[in-house]
Amino acid sequence: MLVFAKIKSLQQKIKSLKKGNSIGFVPTMGALHEGHLSLIKQAKKENNIVVVSIFVNPTQFDKKEDLINYPKTIDYDLSLLKSIFCDIVFTPTAEEIYADNIQSQLFDFDGLEYQMEGKFRDGHFNGVGTIVKRLFEIVKPHKAYFGEKDYQQLQIIRKMVEKHLIPVRVIGCDIFREEDGLAMSSRNSRLTKKHRTVVPFIYKTIKYAKKKFGTKNALEVTNWVENEFKHQPLLKLEYFEIADEETLLPVKNKDPKQKSRAFIAVFADKIRLIDNISL
Ligand code: AMP
Repeated sequence: MLVFAKIKSLQQKIKSLKKGNSIGFVPTMGALHEGHLSLIKQAKKENNIVVVSIFVNPTQFDKKEDLINYPKTIDYDLSLLKSIFCDIVFTPTAEEIYADNIQSQLFDFDGLEYQMEGKFRDGHFNGVGTIVKRLFEIVKPHKAYFGEKDYQQLQIIRKMVEKHLIPVRVIGCDIFREEDGLAMSSRNSRLTKKHRTVVPFIYKTIKYAKKKFGTKNALEVTNWVENEFKHQPLLKLEYFEIADEETLLPVKNKDPKQKSRAFIAVFADKIRLIDNISL
């Protein structure tokens, strides 16, 4: 496994390997877990060379405190990546990526950016678009892998690729969960023991909401979810929303012609967790 911190040396290596090989790319912010590894394993199956980036991107954090507290476990990450035979790891500094201008580009994602996460995380998707576009320009992968765990992000990246004519195939990957249903996330490591025991409630609730959406409309299901969280003093519901999978616009009723998904964001003390389920 080769590890590069500099763009130039990474690009030289990729260029020398590219001929006849397909390059799969998995961008991450590190603090790796089985969810990340599932993306990398899929990329390994579908490409000859897999590049993983580890970069905690400052421009996508709307809260400084969240950026500072974001878990960083680079030695452990590298040993995990080695154990699953990752080919290349890119670990740039913020300076290498942004030079002296740590700022987001402004994007128009045709409104996807104003829904759900966009209402609560100011500038987040401009930050995501900026870093993913930059990493695509550096790595120039054939395929790039993103988790459905961050479903809105996945749709926004698809939109960016389409609008900016970026020659990469974006592949969405299933959500990887703990045995108790909790969606794996780097942030889970920051949960207190007390909170860790209650957070499986998030997936349990959206799974039940899915069942209810068969007979009840979106408003009734949302009211039910909001009420359930009122009985959970350790968790604070930020939003629950049923939305169209493509447009991410709110859906009112179940319609067999429309693919919809339930999205949720919850605070467990200061740790913000998101999840979603296809309905
Ligand atoms: P992050 O390091 O949180 O930026 O995540 C890097 C990539 O891994 C993103 O495409 C995420 O959607 C994906 N990812 C994170 N957690 C999971 C999970 N539990 N299951 C599937 N993909 C995930």
